[in-house]
Amino acid sequence: MNAMRPNAGDSRGRHTPEAAGAPVPGAEGPAGSRTHNSTMMRRASLMQEPVLVLNATYEPINVTAVRRAMVLMLKGVAQAEEMHNSEVHSAAHAHRVPSVIRLLAYRHIPQQSRALSRKNILLRDRNTCQFCGRIFPSSELTLDHVVPRSRGGRSSWENLVACCYRCNNNKGDRTPEEAGLKLARKPRPFTLHTSRQLMRLIGHRDERWRKYLFY
Ligand SMILES: [Zn+2]
Repeated sequence: MNAMRPNAGDSRGRHTPEAAGAPVPGAEGPAGSRTHNSTMMRRASLMQEPVLVLNATYEPINVTAVRRAMVLMLKGVAQAEEMHNSEVHSAAHAHRVPSVIRLLAYRHIPQQSRALSRKNILLRDRNTCQFCGRIFPSSELTLDHVVPRSRGGRSSWENLVACCYRCNNNKGDRTPEEAGLKLARKPRPFTLHTSRQLMRLIGHRDERWRKYLFY
């Protein structure tokens, strides 16, 4: 039963996986090893695999991790629409893992608030520092407020960009103009198109997501 208690010993329970393609060193267990440890590691990494979340109307609304999706299913909040090929095993049972789930009751979620996250800003900017134009792993990027917060700059899609630590230090508490920096491109606001685009980027390896994202 322990295996189905998703929050046990996991401080990252609400963490959704990094975008596919962004290097996440050490995220995969060692392939081919049969030790107990590597089994546990593979399991942990499977529990972090992305799952597409559909509203009751089949509209794609979010991406979560397998672990969280299974909690929603156990609570009777969501049901599986597509299954993963893998299973997780608890003491007595094997549980098939979902790839796409659907909420059973319609949920109204304001577009802007649901999607503003560090992960989504980095995805939009393709892990590219918007000042020096270089690509970095997620761990080496921060979010920069284009108009600094001290000047009333908001935490919004239009005012947050991916930024490397070096450019962030260099810019400090100044606007790009004051710091002599130029944005690679104007940060785009969040739209339904952005949302679909982000979900496609995350789910591009999973064919089962396609029919819900129209590509
Ligand atoms: Zn930079």
